[in-house]
Amino acid sequence: MSKVQSVEAEAAPVRFFREQPFTASEQLGAGERERLMGRIREQLRAQDAVLVAHYYTAPDLQILADETGGIVSDSLEMARFGYEHPGRTVVVAGVRFMGETAKILSPEKRVLMPDLEATCSLDLGCPPDEFAAFCDQHPDRTVVVYANTSAAVKARADWVVTSSIAVDVIRHLHERGEKILWAPDKHLGGYVQQQTGADMVFWDGACIVHEEFKAIELDKVRAEHPDARILVHPESPAGVVAQADVVGSTSQLLKAVQTMDAQTFVVATDAGIFHKMREAAPDKTLLEAPTAGRSATCSSCAHCPWMAMNGLRSLAGTLETGANEIHVDPGVAEQALVSLGRMLEFGRSRQRTVEGAGDA
Ligand code: SF4
Repeated sequence: MSKVQSVEAEAAPVRFFREQPFTASEQLGAGERERLMGRIREQLRAQDAVLVAHYYTAPDLQILADETGGIVSDSLEMARFGYEHPGRTVVVAGVRFMGETAKILSPEKRVLMPDLEATCSLDLGCPPDEFAAFCDQHPDRTVVVYANTSAAVKARADWVVTSSIAVDVIRHLHERGEKILWAPDKHLGGYVQQQTGADMVFWDGACIVHEEFKAIELDKVRAEHPDARILVHPESPAGVVAQADVVGSTSQLLKAVQTMDAQTFVVATDAGIFHKMREAAPDKTLLEAPTAGRSATCSSCAHCPWMAMNGLRSLAGTLETGANEIHVDPGVAEQALVSLGRMLEFGRSRQRTVEGAGDA
């Protein structure tokens, strides 16, 4: 029987991502909002472009994506939708690794983003050269990386996984007797290890948004709302995940709100998801999981500062100028497609839909 290692046991050197932009959502007057939305609709039509938006982006972007024949979804579904859509340009409202994944799956298409500086603490905290050195220290392990990584890190991996399929893939590899090197989210990795019993070593990365959810404060909220169901994204700390009625990806949490027989839900993921949750279940009560005590401060306050960089102004400007195009080195893309392809094929072989996270 293989040895089970704890998250702390063989983690890479501690790395915390300290620098992050201030979370600032775009402020627009009603007139400007309508004018910008009109310009974006017109440009999407004129340029044979489709808008794909992540659940964590601002409601206006989600509304535009839905209205114009695009999609609001998780990262992998965004990339797959862009791949299958006949449009020649895919506009990705999200963070950089999502644009890169779309480009890897659709190299012949033009992929644009409102802001190329919109990134992710998991991606930033896992530089390709340092990650490659960590992999070299563990040549006997199968390298599995989360979708929230750069194209170069995906290219170094054997498998890419999203949060909804991570447990299934690791269980499959564990049953084949493989030992795992997991990166970059230590909380998701710890959850997967706990579910599968796999032998895993971990890169020390975290999502700055989910890491702020607080177990002690959540316990108090549960006491105040004893009938509420607790929905938690597995990028959250173990003490928060332990209190969940449902642990799942963004798509899985959205489905839980629609299908579960409860009136009130406490949601531990980016607050951007509330737009779709309210749309899907307008009669239900949705509460944000606490990110800090009453007297404390939070940094992201349950909204990703990089997702907040996507706005109507930057989207209109990108479409009108063609700026912010995503490019991925063809050799890196070819290699990353191998690890992404394994996940897609694994999902297909189990005849199930692979839903992403990110987020994610
Ligand atoms: S919310 Fe998503 S994109 Fe933002 S830091 Fe966390 S994992 Fe990265």
